Amino acid sequence: MSDASAQAGLPLILTADQTLLADYPTLLDGMMGTVQTTVVPEMLMRRVLSPAMPCQGVRAVRGPLGLRRLEAVLRRAGWAERDVAIVPPHRLKAAIGPATRVVALSSGDPLGLGMTSTTMSAATGGQPYTQRWFAKLCALLRRRRQSGLNFRIVAGGPGAWQLQQQPAAARELGIDTVVVGYAERDLPALMARFAAGEPVGPVVTAAATGPGEIPPILGATVMGVVEISRGCGRGCGFCTLAEEPVSHLPIEQIVADARTNIAGGAAAISLIAEDLFRYGAGGAKPECSRLMEMLAAVRAAEGLRMIQVDHANVSSVAQMNISELREINRLLRVSPRHRHVWVNLGVETASGELMAANGLAGKISPFGAVDWPELCNTAVRRLIEAGFMPMASLILGLPGETPGHLRQTMDLIERWAGLPMVAFPIFYVAVRPEERPFEISRMSELHWRLFSTCYDFNFRWIPPLIADNQRAAAAPRSRRLFIQMAGRGQKLQWKWRLWRAIRRARR
Ligand code: SF4
Repeated sequence: MSDASAQAGLPLILTADQTLLADYPTLLDGMMGTVQTTVVPEMLMRRVLSPAMPCQGVRAVRGPLGLRRLEAVLRRAGWAERDVAIVPPHRLKAAIGPATRVVALSSGDPLGLGMTSTTMSAATGGQPYTQRWFAKLCALLRRRRQSGLNFRIVAGGPGAWQLQQQPAAARELGIDTVVVGYAERDLPALMARFAAGEPVGPVVTAAATGPGEIPPILGATVMGVVEISRGCGRGCGFCTLAEEPVSHLPIEQIVADARTNIAGGAAAISLIAEDLFRYGAGGAKPECSRLMEMLAAVRAAEGLRMIQVDHANVSSVAQMNISELREINRLLRVSPRHRHVWVNLGVETASGELMAANGLAGKISPFGAVDWPELCNTAVRRLIEAGFMPMASLILGLPGETPGHLRQTMDLIERWAGLPMVAFPIFYVAVRPEERPFEISRMSELHWRLFSTCYDFNFRWIPPLIADNQRAAAAPRSRRLFIQMAGRGQKLQWKWRLWRAIRRARR
């Protein structure tokens, strides 16, 4: 961008707070960056944990996947390259000017209401950086508007539900319109209306987008994220994807997006889906041959350094045999340096009845609620045998939870003692107005003991897991050393906090 155009500003700017738009070498680094609270000094966050994304002019060299999709949709709809850009927060002042018509924000956890951030701020204190930096970003935009510039502020992304639920907070932040849902189909018309200054309501729910309407990305993404499937459709009570039917991107597009990432400096890519093992399947039964075909095609991309994955469903794993899982694990290991291929498994609670009572029976399907504890046990052990490191998530304080349910979960976790895995308990977030959110003040001794048992796994396995993934992704040595040293300090802090909390709960 030339100085002249910098003064005039870009007509359409896509941005996000720095927890989403940072230069993370691996998915785990991204997770670490987005769960911190203001207990961690801001300087440390900006310099190390969520470092600023490098730029060419004002343009980020890698952008969040959601913004990359919007950029591609708008370009396809006829917007010129010079008029649209993904700009990180630290370059916004230079990018916004009199020509700016719209600033579109992607949000992950704009009001700090996500389950992970509420758990972290309760356990460690402080405000989630996701919330703090989103507010700072909005404050910067409001100041630019108050200086006489005339542009709309539009927010969307996976955290848009929070702004939709709290319209007063959205207004206070200066947001004119919240767009909920995948917006590829509606976005070009919507942007044209914003740019023309036409009135648009405070909330727009975007129409569902079919896989054929998702354009290939035009530049690399943060953490090399490559979307392989979207939606889920298992119908779970509190999930925004419950009614969004699962659809899969074609293999050619996945490979094209992987290549774009590698070319843009993100050679450690992350294949993202709500359930990796359901890739290519129409229903709840995995289609392993399609998944293997896709992984083999991605693996063949020149310059690829590492493949990371995120979520998998317990019931999908339970429907697969060990040789299928082993082959998938083999395909995921691009280099021998990548030893720990982790995958997030939503265990939530060992009680199938409690799951079903909370509308989570979809996660268990095609099995019954009574099968749930054994399904979880089978899935964890099978994944480990196939070479994966399971990362189990648990939800504390589900409505209707009793000490009996907690003991059931504790029994299940204790059966896994000594296995190479990690486990993260998170607090239930109220989704209906009549519900109470789970809070630290409601934690019993049993809750704390469960928390502490999970962290025994984490203290043992998180340091080697991070070191392994960072090595495989060729993260800078200085960062690797720093994270390991800081991790030791955090481990001591957590141990002390948990010991104190259990003693208090006993009194
Ligand atoms: S299985 Fe997971 S992603 Fe799918 S609806 Fe249930 S909670 Fe949401």
